[in-house]
Amino acid sequence: MKATTVAAIGAGALLLLRKPKIRKGSVSFATPNRGPAVVMRYLVRLSQRARVPIVITSWTRTPQAQAAAMLAKLERGENLYDLYRNDAAIRALMNADRNLASWASIIDAWTQSGRPLSRHLDGYGTDIRTRNLRPDQIARLMTTARAMGANPVLESDHLHIGWPRP
Ligand SMILES: [Zn+2]
Repeated sequence: MKATTVAAIGAGALLLLRKPKIRKGSVSFATPNRGPAVVMRYLVRLSQRARVPIVITSWTRTPQAQAAAMLAKLERGENLYDLYRNDAAIRALMNADRNLASWASIIDAWTQSGRPLSRHLDGYGTDIRTRNLRPDQIARLMTTARAMGANPVLESDHLHIGWPRP
């Protein structure tokens, strides 16, 4: 066997080792909730194109789950006006009693009016775990998501992605 062949095989083996197992996209779930099939296809494509395995921590949420998530953000000292575009809805929440039931009913009313506070309420929002990812992987996910027409927002412990409706 010539040295060049060995080198070629060596390079090939190296390529095999380095090629991530996620050529087909790797999407796993840390939540039982699912959402629209088109969003599932987006997630697989995102993982595939960015070459990053992704773990979904939150997908479709009930108004109660959305209220719980927002109350938790508030507890952590986060500013809801920075995180959500619907200022009028945030004002209504901030003026209401800080409990699950009252927040859930306000959140549901906004959804019924056609202005959902979060894409999670109609299944077009997904959260990706970031604690297991390197900064360059997170950056690639964000760039790739934008190229796919989505709106990624890096939050304290996850990457939120709002997907376009087809
Ligand atoms: Zn989110």
